[in-house]
Amino acid sequence: MKKINYLLIGTNNDGKLREIRSLLPKNIKTRSVKYYRLNSPPENGSSFKENSLIKSKFFSKKTNLPCLADDSGLEIDILNKKPGIFSARWGGKKGNFNKAIKKVFRELNKKDKNWRKKKIKARFICALSISFLNKKITCVQGKVEGTISSEAIGKNGFGYDPIFIPDNEKKTFGEMNPSKKYKIDHRSKAFKKIKKFL
Ligand code: IMP
Repeated sequence: MKKINYLLIGTNNDGKLREIRSLLPKNIKTRSVKYYRLNSPPENGSSFKENSLIKSKFFSKKTNLPCLADDSGLEIDILNKKPGIFSARWGGKKGNFNKAIKKVFRELNKKDKNWRKKKIKARFICALSISFLNKKITCVQGKVEGTISSEAIGKNGFGYDPIFIPDNEKKTFGEMNPSKKYKIDHRSKAFKKIKKFL
């Protein structure tokens, strides 16, 4: 199989970009979509995988480069797996993560006033795809199981990191050293599955 040595990273999210760059082999040259000043397409798919493919195909067609795109989010079991594919949208138009976390707490309070005393099961999911123009090269998914913290803790990472405690750990992703998070999270698990292309 021909390995890819030049890749467009299809995200406008700085947190994801940082992590993806650190997970990619160092011999691959990358450009981000910010460099080309491209806005993200509407994500109107009904699954993480579908939305990831919408992005990788869209950005590849705009630039003529093979594109790696990520679609990811947080599923909370007692909220019927919400925010799920709407994880970014819970932060509003400006992608305000504090706002998104407040909405999680508000929804949990609505569901069960005593949720803070319970184990609130959740998981992060990451779908990664590589496309060249309109053709899918690969599309995989990785996940990490955990629970929701009773309060937001930690300034590292992005998004819902301050409220997610992965199983078998005491700290939230927001408290963890990024290099530790990158070893155990949903994105690194998805990455392992696409290694052979890189
Ligand atoms: P999208 O894939 O660009 O639609 O957005 C995914 C959203 O899910 C992000 O904006 C975050 O809110 C959340 N998310 C995905 N991965 C992570 C992560 O590793 N840490 C924290 N939040 C994440």
